[in-house]
Formats: sequence, C-alpha cells, structure tokens
Amino acid sequence: MEKLIEFFFPPRCAFCGRLGKSPCDDCKKNIRFISGNTCQKCGIPIGDTALPFYPSCLRENFAFERVFPVFYYEGVIRRGVHLFKYRGFYQNAITFSRLMAKKILEANINADIITFVPISLDRYLQRGFNHSFLLAKNIGKILKIPTVDLLARVGFTKPFYNLSRQERQREIKGKIKLKKGYENIIKGKKIILVDDIFTTGATTNECSKVLLENGAKCVFVSVLAITKLAR
Ligand SMILES: [Zn+2]
Ligand SMILES: [Zn+2]
Repeated sequence: MEKLIEFFFPPRCAFCGRLGKSPCDDCKKNIRFISGNTCQKCGIPIGDTALPFYPSCLRENFAFERVFPVFYYEGVIRRGVHLFKYRGFYQNAITFSRLMAKKILEANINADIITFVPISLDRYLQRGFNHSFLLAKNIGKILKIPTVDLLARVGFTKPFYNLSRQERQREIKGKIKLKKGYENIIKGKKIILVDDIFTTGATTNECSKVLLENGAKCVFVSVLAITKLAR
C-alpha cells in the first residue's frame, strides 16, 4: 500500500501539507512526543504523582489494558489529523502509522491481531474511507501482525462532537458488534485496537468490551493522539 500511495501522492509533510519530507523542519520544531511518567491506563502524562493513574481512569474502569498515544491532540498534530480526515491526505497514514507502530514496539506487548474502530456507513459514504483502517493496515504491515476487520456499527449514532462523556457512553452502548464468524479468530488473542484520536474513550471502551465478551484475551489501544480535555 505504501508504494501505491507514494506513487499517487508526492511526499508532503503530514502536519502542514507542504511538499517535501515529513515532518518538514518547521513542523518538526513544534512536535512534542508524549513521554515521561504516563497514566498506566490512558497513557496521558501525569507528572510526579503518587498514583500510576490519571484520576478519571480510576473511576472509569476501562475494559482495555492501556492506551498508547503518540501525541497530544493540539497544534501541528491537530492540523495533520485534519488534513488526513477531511482534506484527502491519505498519505499521512504512512507517517502516522510508523509513529504508532514504534510506540507499540517499545511497549513489547506481542499482540496477535490488529483491528480498528469501525465508522458508520453514513460517515464512510461521506469520507470515502475509514482512516483508522488505513492506520491499522499500515501498523500491521510494520509489526508483521494481521489486520482483521472485526467490528461493525449497528444502528444510528449521533455525532459525538457536542456530547459529554456520559452522553457518549450512552450513545455508543450496544452500537458495536463483532462481525459474524470471527469468534474463533479472536478467542484467547491479544488484540490491538486502532483509532485516530482518544477523547473520552467511550468508543474504544465499547469496542474493547465487545472483543472481550467474545473471547479475546486482552485489548490494547493504539491512537495517534489524545485530547487534553478533562475526562
Ligand atoms: Zn510541515
Ligand atoms: Zn489515564
């Protein structure tokens, strides 16, 4: 896929869209990777606290093991994601997935399967592709793990844009299903679930629950960026 993308799209900076290497020198100066002491559940930096979790993660009881975010969703990262999702910069999947794969490799989790958060048919028709699928496919290639399309949306889900954490949880509940015939494939397996942005975790948590209820051993979440919003 990488070769095909490079053929159709000349190399551009994934964060500002300028022709040339990715990231360009200007964006590189403004990119800050998440590092240091991070929450053992959501992966957000927590500084020198006594507890290994961000306070909201203690309340949430997320079904997944932990999230691996590469960046905060801000500044140049936000711009790059916008180009990727709404402006047709499919080639950003290459830069983004390399960074996500590196983060997973560092964690040494030895997963068996990669999958991704499904989008609704409406959104698929609007955008023409599922960006999380592109990321997952490329991460799978880098890690040499099969990428499998396991999950599907059922029914209608309101856009999350203006919804609170609780509203999102209510809205997504029961709207994710394991595709028929995949129970045996995921049984006892360590799964990496890929999404672009982690906001409240409502959708990734629902996807993780469905995978676990259907026999997966555990779920790790790989995202490009995490929001700084209070959760
Ligand atoms: Zn740039
Ligand atoms: Zn956390």
